Amino acid sequence: MSTNDALSSSTEIERLLAIDRGHAWHPYTSTIDRDPVYPVRAAQGCEIELMDGRRLIDGMASWWCVIHGYNHPLLNQAAREQLKQMAHVMFGGLTHAPAVGLVERLVRITPEPLQQVFLCDSGSVAVEVAMKMALQYQQAIGQRKRVRFLTLRSGYHGDTFHAMSVCDPVTGMHHLFNQVLPQQFFAPAPTARFGEPCSDDDIAEFERLIETHRDEIAAVILEPIVQGAGGMRFYSAEYLQRVRALCDAHGVLLIADEIATGFGRTGRLFACEHAGISPDIMTLGKALTGGYLTSAATLTTEQVAYAISSAEPGAFMHGPTFMGNPLACAIATASIDLLLGPSPGSGTGGQGWQANIARIEQRLKSDLEPCRELPGVADVRVLGAIGVVEMEQPVAMREIQRRFVERGVWVRPFGRLVYLMPPFIISDEELQWLTAAVVEVLAQSAPT
Ligand SMILES: *Cc1c(COP(=O)(O)O)cnc(C)c1O
Repeated sequence: MSTNDALSSSTEIERLLAIDRGHAWHPYTSTIDRDPVYPVRAAQGCEIELMDGRRLIDGMASWWCVIHGYNHPLLNQAAREQLKQMAHVMFGGLTHAPAVGLVERLVRITPEPLQQVFLCDSGSVAVEVAMKMALQYQQAIGQRKRVRFLTLRSGYHGDTFHAMSVCDPVTGMHHLFNQVLPQQFFAPAPTARFGEPCSDDDIAEFERLIETHRDEIAAVILEPIVQGAGGMRFYSAEYLQRVRALCDAHGVLLIADEIATGFGRTGRLFACEHAGISPDIMTLGKALTGGYLTSAATLTTEQVAYAISSAEPGAFMHGPTFMGNPLACAIATASIDLLLGPSPGSGTGGQGWQANIARIEQRLKSDLEPCRELPGVADVRVLGAIGVVEMEQPVAMREIQRRFVERGVWVRPFGRLVYLMPPFIISDEELQWLTAAVVEVLAQSAPT
């Protein structure tokens, strides 16, 4: 961080905050009762520097995205090099090296049957695209009544309408949009935890729904292994294997939403690998560009793509203005190479990322463990580079956020969940600072 830059004056900060308060609508907030926001000047590695000079160790990776840390020299270089060529060009009728480089890598690193890549703008759009692919596929093979989706409670798939329709009905606030949301089928969230077998009971309702409604269901959509924003739950790999088998048995497609889990976060490159299964459609986003730009991808099999393409109207009907944006693709390519090394098997790069996630996992496990003893804590769980402390009651957001900032960390809980998912490059010292802050802040706010 360039320490020689003058700090912003408090008048400057006040002016910025006044305009923000007046006109900038932040995610999931009221414009009347404003949540406090902290103005950021810069970010570097695992540190976020506020405009008043305070530095925070980042425990959020900006919502799962910033896996290599902020302001990374190689990603910056990829952006600068691409800007010399072009920032953008349409993808209709044109193609370019950044997009081709990216789809080549995505096909190589995802499960083998996924061969066709549709690039798009954001996670929610990737989910819309996946759902449209499933609908067009079922139409194409003559299953015209298969227009609904089966999913799990406690899921999260984005904020656009069809994505919202498969989010958890309670945390996803379905009652607000009941009149316009498509009605989907919901199975209970799996209760078998990650590492445990899946009992017949656990999957019974899912099984019943898919059997009863097989002629109406186009696809199952779920987050493999880790349910993220809907509850930070880690569930049994065997459950996922049984879902795959049930989809196959009933001619239902399986959409794996790997937007949060993709690119190593759970200890495998993609969470489906924990179960050794391959979906028919996979969505990627969040860490795709290392947190630099919004971009996403929906991948599918030759079989699905062929069916869609060979039936009326002979095309997949989607095409966002910014799809395949060269700048985003160039950065995404650099981010994947940074994670995996330029080519697996070349001897460079390789599996170093796995050791790193294992290191973070061990530290989170040992250093969040003391939280278990604190009053008000319901559960502590860790998988890969995700550490979760679940409270019995919702936390007082503004107060706890302020305490974390005072303690020099950026941790943003939601509901009953206080969680860490730091950049993969985080040092042991930084990680210790983060976990110590969580333990201390929760100990202070615990009911006495
Ligand atoms: C974040 C997320 C989305 C939505 O992505 P956006 O880029 O916010 O639209 C969809 N699915 C999952 C699993 C996510 O975590």
